Amino acid sequence: MNTRQDEIAVVGAGLAGCLLACYLARRGHSVTLYERRPDPRVGTPERGRSINLALSERGLDALRRIGLDEQVMADALPMRGRMVHPVVGEPDFQSYSAEGDRAINSISRGALNNALLDAAAKLPQVRVAFDHRLVGLDPATAQMTFETPQGTVTANATVVLGADGAGSAVRGQLLEHGLLTESVDFLDYGYKELTIPPLGGDFALDPGALHIWPRGTSMMIALPNPDRSFTCTLFWPNHGTASFSSLGSKAAIERYFAQHYPDLPPLAPNLVDDYQHNPVGVLGTVRCDPWQFDGRVGLLGDAAHAIVPFYGQGANCAFEDVVELDTCLDECGDDWAAALPLYQQRRQDNAEAIAQMALANFVEMRDKVASPVYQTRKKVEHA
Ligand code: FAD
Repeated sequence: MNTRQDEIAVVGAGLAGCLLACYLARRGHSVTLYERRPDPRVGTPERGRSINLALSERGLDALRRIGLDEQVMADALPMRGRMVHPVVGEPDFQSYSAEGDRAINSISRGALNNALLDAAAKLPQVRVAFDHRLVGLDPATAQMTFETPQGTVTANATVVLGADGAGSAVRGQLLEHGLLTESVDFLDYGYKELTIPPLGGDFALDPGALHIWPRGTSMMIALPNPDRSFTCTLFWPNHGTASFSSLGSKAAIERYFAQHYPDLPPLAPNLVDDYQHNPVGVLGTVRCDPWQFDGRVGLLGDAAHAIVPFYGQGANCAFEDVVELDTCLDECGDDWAAALPLYQQRRQDNAEAIAQMALANFVEMRDKVASPVYQTRKKVEHA
């Protein structure tokens, strides 16, 4: 039983930050969640950044422990295998499990974030400060500086936890103070979203599968949404032939998709508009060390270890961080100076392993799933 009640600042009300706030509040701590954006529950989402995630058992376990799994799963669609779309011929379904009973779950990142934010915000120990962008942190005193619409404000906490994503400002501050080293490896690939709307009121493709169009050096995937649409994501090279930079005109886009993704244009009436107007996102792997300073500042989720999305595990991994930190706090009697290094020790090798597996799975998904050899192999359990 925790007897300490600390003032914890969690920077970033994304997936990891909101879940972390719920876990810390359950321990009796007071939590302020600082988020640079306005409240995402009001307002319209950014175009071409809907991102639907494959939530797997690792992430679900973290939600189940605080009773949020059923609510979140109400908006999720189970995908029991991958449907591989060749250039010519019929799509091929490859089950994730021998019995066909295991699934990963398609869920909108925005919907998941909002559900976690709702859960955190309704707890009496949690305060949420939107429109607060962290721009300064003194690691020795844990004093934070934020830019807000009203001007610059400062705030203090006993412990500051950075859950502020791949471009973490908390990590940046530790770096600036010479307290960690980091490497950021960008892929020469980007991602762009397209939409397949419902067809005659129903899903245009099988909603029980994660759809993949493997094309050797590039690919497209599509995951189902509860409104019966699919979000497609192109993972293409940024440069060279057959890259995001090589397709400009409407005619070139139409020609390219008709040739390489021939089943898509009839299902995606806004294909050209989506392609021309949706942004290209960056993909990269972040490594840093250490993940904490002096038991006063810590990093979780993408802030500590962003990975490329090809194993569908970034958010799942962030949720596992939260569970592990909670376990370490249990074992250390909420002594942060002991718990934060222990959490890093237990998570860092796992984060590195999934970072490498995610890079390797890009080759698997864009190339090997389409090979005849692969199709005679035992089915694997991941996307
Ligand atoms: P984020 O979700 O990035 O949240 C960070 C939060 O911090 C944001 O709300 C941001 O506004 C806020 N913030 C940033 N800077 C500041 C600041 N200075 N001050 C205050 N607040 C700040 N993962 C999976 O598990 N399965 C998948 O299938 C999957 N697919 C993906 C597909 C794509 C195309 C991409 C790009 C990612 C995918 N991921 C997937 C990864 C997943 O989205 C991330 O791992 C996850 O969002 C990380 O959560 P986080 O809370 O650490 O960071």
